[in-house]
Amino acid sequence: MKIAVLPGDGIGPEIVAQAVKVLEALRGDGLKIELEYAHLGGAGYDAAGDPFPPATEKLALAADAVLLGAVGGYQYDNLPRPMRPEQGLLRIRKGLGLFANLRPALVYPELVNASSLKPELVSGLDIMILRELTGDIYFGQPRGIRTMDNGERQGFDTMLYSESEIRRVAHVGFQIALKRGKKLCSVDKANVLDTSMFWREIVIDVAKDYPVIELSHMYVDNAAMQLVRAPKQFDVILTGNIFGDILSDEASMLTGSIGMLPSASLDAHNKGLYEPCHGSAPDIAGKDIANPLATILSVAMMMRYTFAREDIAQRIEAAVRKVLQQGLRTGDIYEAGMQKVGCTAMGDAVVAAL
Ligand code: NAD
Repeated sequence: MKIAVLPGDGIGPEIVAQAVKVLEALRGDGLKIELEYAHLGGAGYDAAGDPFPPATEKLALAADAVLLGAVGGYQYDNLPRPMRPEQGLLRIRKGLGLFANLRPALVYPELVNASSLKPELVSGLDIMILRELTGDIYFGQPRGIRTMDNGERQGFDTMLYSESEIRRVAHVGFQIALKRGKKLCSVDKANVLDTSMFWREIVIDVAKDYPVIELSHMYVDNAAMQLVRAPKQFDVILTGNIFGDILSDEASMLTGSIGMLPSASLDAHNKGLYEPCHGSAPDIAGKDIANPLATILSVAMMMRYTFAREDIAQRIEAAVRKVLQQGLRTGDIYEAGMQKVGCTAMGDAVVAAL
């Protein structure tokens, strides 16, 4: 298992160090894990004048999987756009062809009160949002700001999906649904958008390969509403880039705790980039108080999706559950009566539970 480790900025190095402890513990158990480090984001700019330095690109391309902390920081806010940390993130996703973004929204029984929804609505919640990541209105051409003959200015973008882009992400969605509750809801805006009508047509065609999956379709406005009305009706949600951007943030907040949410971005061969959903949290960086669990759970996703080791994925997830059951909490998920611990202590507890 060749893993490129990119700690990044802010709390990135602290949380990644805890995930690496988990990987090292697994290596101690006999897994052949190779770790190699490189810079991304502000760290790349500081080290090599580039948020995605060539050495990082080379390492990421050669690795089976990439473990990323987070990028960004106030000190980089005034750099020209191509030098900004976030560009490093966009470039690595594009450079590796990571078109399938998986974000689970899972509510742990111990943290059910952290949700902004009533416990009965979210207790037992386990949704997977699959967002297409390299197409749609974010990448479609032409785009720009233009001045018309009458002097009026216009901003415009192009929503665009080709058949192959829809097919490959739909296949990923059905494959994931096969391993879960066998339900897939494709979200679009087919009542208004031609791109969405086409999306729906292709998804229905791909579904013929997966007769055991119960396929449904929902308009995105209704999906946004259903996610807060009755979120447990969903198993896997498949959607395009812009709708997925918005819905995955909405769904993640059902769980209440940004420090708990892992993500995976996969290419066509299950190579993946694994990272927590949160950012670099510069406000708490260097204080050893960040929650490392989202990053550790990202390692579980890596074992499941890139290395096809469901057994190890479940072992890591069980270790995380165990520390929550023991009452250990970082500040972001702390409740009265629990034991407050820092980032390092939380990482140590997960390794012990493992
Ligand atoms: P953020 O996710 O970094 O922080 C939002 C809030 O959540 C902060 O109060 C922070 O302290 C808290 N938080 C985040 N992660 C936490 C953790 N693991 N444990 C405890 N608390 C945690 O979002 P932001 O403040 O909007 O952005 C900060 C920087 O991160 C910006 O430069 C932004 O561009 C960048 N960012 C990067 C990524 C990424 O690397 N994928 C994603 C989002 C934002």
